[in-house]
Amino acid sequence: MHDCVIVGSGPGGLGAAYALLDRKPSPKILIIEKQTVSSGGLRNDCKMNFSYPIGFPQDLWGRAEAERCLAVMQPILKPEIMPKRNLAVYSERAQRLGVDLLHIEQAHLGTDRGLELIRRLTSGLSERGVEFRFEEEALEIDAERAVLRTNRSEYPYGRLVVAPGRGGFGFLKKLMDDLGVSYIDHIVDIGVRVETRMDYYPIVRDYYDPKFHFPDKVRTFCTNSRRAYVVKEKYQTREGRTYFSVNGHAFSERRRENGLVNFAMLKTVRFTEPLASGQDFAVMLGLQAMLMGGGQPIMQRVGDFRLGRRSKREDFNHDLYDFPPSLASCTPGDISLAMPAKILRGIWKSMKLLDTIVPGVLHPSTILYYPEIKLYANKPAFLDRYFRVKDGIYMVGDGAGTSRGITAAWASGMRAAEGIAADGG
Ligand SMILES: Cc1cc2nc3c(=O)[nH]c(=O)nc-3n(C[C@H](O)[C@H](O)[C@H](O)COP(=O)(O)OP(=O)(O)OC[C@H]3O[C@@H](n4cnc5c(N)ncnc54)[C@H](O)[C@@H]3O)c2cc1C
Repeated sequence: MHDCVIVGSGPGGLGAAYALLDRKPSPKILIIEKQTVSSGGLRNDCKMNFSYPIGFPQDLWGRAEAERCLAVMQPILKPEIMPKRNLAVYSERAQRLGVDLLHIEQAHLGTDRGLELIRRLTSGLSERGVEFRFEEEALEIDAERAVLRTNRSEYPYGRLVVAPGRGGFGFLKKLMDDLGVSYIDHIVDIGVRVETRMDYYPIVRDYYDPKFHFPDKVRTFCTNSRRAYVVKEKYQTREGRTYFSVNGHAFSERRRENGLVNFAMLKTVRFTEPLASGQDFAVMLGLQAMLMGGGQPIMQRVGDFRLGRRSKREDFNHDLYDFPPSLASCTPGDISLAMPAKILRGIWKSMKLLDTIVPGVLHPSTILYYPEIKLYANKPAFLDRYFRVKDGIYMVGDGAGTSRGITAAWASGMRAAEGIAADGG
């Protein structure tokens, strides 16, 4: 019998464990993780944001509470906050165009060093008595008996913290259906990943991940540079069909530079009436993109996009189109055939604004990759401010919609731990 069983060793689960260990006597904690090592953003690129509201859904988080949690986690995560320089000129241009350039405190580890952080965090917990079961998948909860069932065993729990991340959307949905917890899913971010030479987006030399917020709910997100690569994430529909979303990451300074930068340009779509599922909408768009791209995401040079013609494999690399795509397995094509008009208009308008603020980013060689999809969670109806959904059961992190980033997921785990303490657990 464990005082607390945690599902998922991402920042949500780890944040809960560290906060629980602050209590005396230390509770007996078990963490169940289906991979060999924690997945998610700690492992991919690992940019950690220490500024509210980045990553914190504002309907669940106020500034004071987020900043309190950020201060507590800093000595554990030990971020090296990156300097920002020479931003006045960009900020002034942005302001004139009705665009916000957010000034964020951020640390960047890179994919390789992210893994080292995960090892340090998990061994720090093991040394303090926390048990881990890797390569074990949580399957269901028997709430009456307070038992978690996995693919290998059954674990009675005093309290349960479920933090399975974005990859655990389906698992969480099943749990909520089984437990009779209601939820809502009506938001999704859809957009493109932009890849260009750093020379055409030089702001990244002064500000690693510049966050621009444009009108029409469009924003830049997750900028990677110097040793930056676009990657594919695989998703599967309920019927077993596959589609890909693109994403981006970068390595630490130990790797050789490739001189490229990539970032997402995303538009948030929020359904109101009739209330559609954001995830279903994303699946539809993902499959449509696969149809156009022969089973792969589509890529198009800005030069072709501007002329209203598709990019083709044979002329994808020539003359002005002088850098090879870092995700060459995508299909050269025509994004405007696959993307809904309203989303495309919003993104293209924002790209033009961005090109006025940082001239050069719309160079003909710049590549647009589609689709980049950021799913939002099935947000449970929480019973209290600690993210409790049933007696003794807490749901936190990106999977439950309490966060959209590493630090906010960690803070969500802390809040669940505080709930467990308040509840006498
Ligand atoms: C490719 C990528 C790059 C990202 N880059 C960044 C970034 O640079 N900065 C940033 O702030 N955010 C980034 N994010 C977002 C960030 O990963 C999340 O906000 C954060 O990791 C959420 O934490 P979490 O604990 O909720 O979930 P996760 O970190 O996803 O962790 C959930 C864990 O639960 C495990 N799990 C799931 N289901 C089960 C189950 N049934 N049984 C057992 N274990 C299970 C998973 O294997 C996983 O390890 C990125 C996300 C991705 C996918």
